[in-house]
Amino acid sequence: MTAAEKHDLVVHGDIALPDGRLLTAGWLGVTDGRIAEVSEAPLAGADNVEAPGCLILPGFVDAHVHTRSSVDEGITATTGAAAAGGTTTIIDMPFDKPARPVNTRERLEAKVADVHAEAVVDVALYATFPPEGDLAVIGEMAGAGAAAFKVSTIEVDPVRFPRIPDGRLYEAFQEISRTGRPVAAHQENQEIILAQAEAFQGRGQTEPIDHALSRPPVAEAEAAGRLLELAYWTGARLHMVHGTIPRTFELIRWNRDTGVRATGETCLQYLLLTMDALRDQGGRAKCNPPLRTQDDVDALWQQVQGGLIDIVTSDHSPYPLPQKEREDIFEAYAGMPGVETLGSLLYSEGVAKGRIELERFLELVASGPADIFGLAQKGRLEAGADADFVVFDPHVQSTLDETALHYAVGWSPYHGHECQGRVVSTWLRGSCVYDDGRLMAGPGTGRFVRPS
Ligand SMILES: [Zn+2]
Repeated sequence: MTAAEKHDLVVHGDIALPDGRLLTAGWLGVTDGRIAEVSEAPLAGADNVEAPGCLILPGFVDAHVHTRSSVDEGITATTGAAAAGGTTTIIDMPFDKPARPVNTRERLEAKVADVHAEAVVDVALYATFPPEGDLAVIGEMAGAGAAAFKVSTIEVDPVRFPRIPDGRLYEAFQEISRTGRPVAAHQENQEIILAQAEAFQGRGQTEPIDHALSRPPVAEAEAAGRLLELAYWTGARLHMVHGTIPRTFELIRWNRDTGVRATGETCLQYLLLTMDALRDQGGRAKCNPPLRTQDDVDALWQQVQGGLIDIVTSDHSPYPLPQKEREDIFEAYAGMPGVETLGSLLYSEGVAKGRIELERFLELVASGPADIFGLAQKGRLEAGADADFVVFDPHVQSTLDETALHYAVGWSPYHGHECQGRVVSTWLRGSCVYDDGRLMAGPGTGRFVRPS
């Protein structure tokens, strides 16, 4: 092999190294879908990506996605939107419709087959388990490649998304700790929320803002504290999904100091939107836990800056607008699309606005989620890793247009948002999956990723 043919693909741009340093006008050499070398000196290859002035970032890892919470979306549309947003790996939640939670080894294997047939980018999978029955399914699903386990402290649906009672959680956390995989729980106190919802509806308070007002912060903090206690006494590794208030992360900090293995996640919407979005956008802005106050948003940014929040995700759970825009906010579906906007909007609001350094950004949406979920091939531009990368132009300013996004549901809570920086192209294992507004790959391109 001559030097001129050394790599399958060579990328030339400002390369974001794993420690956050930029290798200005550096070179990335890709062979067999993996990064073969990162170099200051020119490299040669069969194909070339010339990206002067652009950042070469690791493909983003969105650790909280629901491809099948809505049957109208599905794996193909969600992973296509991910590709368009620079996300090359998603970790998908197990609460699939119609009424098919991933709670047995057979269901997990069936979903793995669906991922290989339908996905545009790579997919790792959360599993769950039913409120009753043999907990041996946990070890079986870990063996079949589940990245983590997800449960809920509040009943969303009795079959698909059930509440797991505390007694069962205590046993399940012990079982999960033996697998080495993390456990995550939707952390809201069911009794507080149901009682408040009944009181609000009884008084005729059913405006959009009443969604946020009827789910007080104590409901989240109490459940978070309970889960951390369970983790302390069982040795389970707890990943706190979608924290929305600073106290949740203060509880994590205190528990970490006492030896609990816990990580914390917030979602982009809790950093960009306040509960005022419910007044402005109505049911579109309904999500659980709900959007909070400006003071909470400001405090969460401080925790992002300080490293107390480990990762940022989208909690992508899209629903068509007729299911979101109801007369009574308690009748509206909770969840919003977000997988396509995670990386670019966090860059815009975080790095471009000077709130966080590039290093922190990469931890939040690339190396951090890869580390928590054991995806060793993902999240870093370094020799040996999968050649998943994003050509990102930090200079472009644009206004976010929901009609240009790739969601099947066709809307975004960030419509009209001013954005600094843009995904030019997205590459998965050395192949282009998105280029300048167009998807370049279809179902069957993405693969199932299991933790190492
Ligand atoms: Zn979720």
